[in-house]
Amino acid sequence: MTHNRRDFLKASSALAGSAVAASLIARPAEASAVVAPTRRGAARPRMTLRFRAYTIQLRHVFTIATSSRTTTPVVLTEIAYDGITGYGEASMPPYLGESHESATAFLAKVDLSKYENPFELETILHDIDALAPGNPAAKASVDIALHDLVGRLMKQPWYNIWGFDARKTPYTSFTIGIDTQDVVRQKTKEAAAYKVLKVKLGRDTDKMMVETIRSVTDKPITADVNQGWKDRAAALDMMHWLHEKGVVMVEQPLPKEQVDDLAWLTERSPVPVIGDEGVQRLADIPKAKGVYTGINIKLMKCTGMREAHKMIVLARSLDMKVMLGCMTETSCGISAASHLSPMVDWADLDGALLINNDVYDGTQVLDGKVTLRDRPGIGVRTLKA
Ligand SMILES: [Mg+2]
Repeated sequence: MTHNRRDFLKASSALAGSAVAASLIARPAEASAVVAPTRRGAARPRMTLRFRAYTIQLRHVFTIATSSRTTTPVVLTEIAYDGITGYGEASMPPYLGESHESATAFLAKVDLSKYENPFELETILHDIDALAPGNPAAKASVDIALHDLVGRLMKQPWYNIWGFDARKTPYTSFTIGIDTQDVVRQKTKEAAAYKVLKVKLGRDTDKMMVETIRSVTDKPITADVNQGWKDRAAALDMMHWLHEKGVVMVEQPLPKEQVDDLAWLTERSPVPVIGDEGVQRLADIPKAKGVYTGINIKLMKCTGMREAHKMIVLARSLDMKVMLGCMTETSCGISAASHLSPMVDWADLDGALLINNDVYDGTQVLDGKVTLRDRPGIGVRTLKA
């Protein structure tokens, strides 16, 4: 009763002088019935989270050292607030452990209606991270939608809010998966517009893959072994061979558990060694120093834009290289990541180019360069309802 009375007084004073307030004060017995809707109408708007499962179709069968697939499950999120909607996405390649079921179960636990101010990103995203361990992609889907919403409320793109120069975006690599010689040659020709190619290694066809690409083009190559090599001495021999072939960087050459071997390899390698599977979140970076030359940041690993920004700052302060990567994603996830791209050494943001049922229009790749849109938030528009 005391609580109702206090609410009633708050509503009355907010409406002081109006005819409604006068009538409420005149009839206190009806207060709780009448005040509730009045308060709702007068209160600040609240955020509402919506989400739906979606399946991305890949243009080509995608093969890496450990798996092969033609689809990627994603969950598309929206946060509505005061007539404005922010968009987000969780992309969940199956080998990472999240799924439509796990993400929707996690998102069902998220209650954004209790926050009055969407600008309180730090508080809101801390609370969401604390809801359950793991679930980084599901968490990122909320983080991205919230950032998009806040950018739209501020009427500014995130590269402006963060203070980055949109002209300093990098060229993205275009990924060539493990395949037959004919397919690799064909894909290399199709990738003519890209200035950097990324080759997937880690099976017994590694030299064939690189030599086939080199038979078509002499553009720079980055390599991703996806933990596919096991022996550090053999790995070092391959690093030297790759260096001679114009490979400029190698991701995750050895299993992430072989920390001492990775540190040994990084110390001797002629090219930078980048940790991907071995570096998930902000807290992993201090222990990655000395093990890797740099880190591959992905929004779907690190819970989203807010932590990714912190990771770049921390890695730079430790004099480590930074790569910005992605999963196969719609243009929503790619656009979100792209706002950080002016700050990184390498970008691998081709995820939306590998799919044929995108639902957003956003950051583009023009002549191989990540090209940000001059639009608020993360800069996306929906292509389909
Ligand atoms: Mg990788």
